Amino acid sequence: QRQSEAHLRQLASVGQIAAGIAHEVRNPLTAVKGFLQLLKEKNEERYIQIAETELNNAIAILQNLLQVSKPDMDDEPVERIDLTVELESIIQLFQDQFYRVNVIKNFENPGNYIYGKKNQLKRAFFNLLKNAFEAIEDKGSIMINHSATKDSVTVSLQDTGSGIPNEKLKLLGTPFFTTKQNGTGMGLAFVFSVIYQNGGTIEVASEENVGTTFTIHFSKDRRKNRREAVHLDQLELQQT
Ligand code: ADP
Ligand code: MG
Repeated sequence: QRQSEAHLRQLASVGQIAAGIAHEVRNPLTAVKGFLQLLKEKNEERYIQIAETELNNAIAILQNLLQVSKPDMDDEPVERIDLTVELESIIQLFQDQFYRVNVIKNFENPGNYIYGKKNQLKRAFFNLLKNAFEAIEDKGSIMINHSATKDSVTVSLQDTGSGIPNEKLKLLGTPFFTTKQNGTGMGLAFVFSVIYQNGGTIEVASEENVGTTFTIHFSKDRRKNRREAVHLDQLELQQT
């Protein structure tokens, strides 16, 4: 039900939310400016580090914004994506978290694959996994599954994290919606946009204090996949 016209329009209009961008990027840049000022007065290593972190935040926000509004910009070819290989490589990026989070892989059919734009989709799965790790405060587990039927492929990520209260579920994927102190609120907007543009669908089920599951479906039929791919930049934008 997330793939509503209204939601797609909202994603498509991200590129136009100049005020939002200005606001989001101004904060880290102002912080950097302040710490550079302090640096001039007192040469302290930690000021450089803070400035660096804030600059990275600003860059991340801008990159995510660009990707949400125009994920097709890098003009990636559609290719065959081996789910086991790619998911394994993304999971490894979080290995410093393995001491507290038990990652359970359930790859029913190891040779499972989908067709799509590999880098975009990898970044989308990375964002989902990052959220799952961030939702687990102390210890917990994340279960990553992929499976296939005759005509479709399913990938799901289930975490035992904080869960999402019902009234906030409908806000997921809205650009800038975040409940985190240092969140950008761009991760899921990017994820939704990439999944739709690759012809997939995505659903979320969540219960507070129990956990969250994201389920993604792709058709095995390449042509059907392509037909169903949503091109955000071809939607007519409403003036707001
Ligand atoms: P960010 O991670 O920067 O906050 P996202 O768009 O990735 O932005 O996520 C938006 C919000 O959705 C998060 O702040 C969080 O409240 C909620 N959320 C996303 N994924 C999960 C999850 N796996 N468990 C609990 N909450 C989640
Ligand atoms: Mg996130």
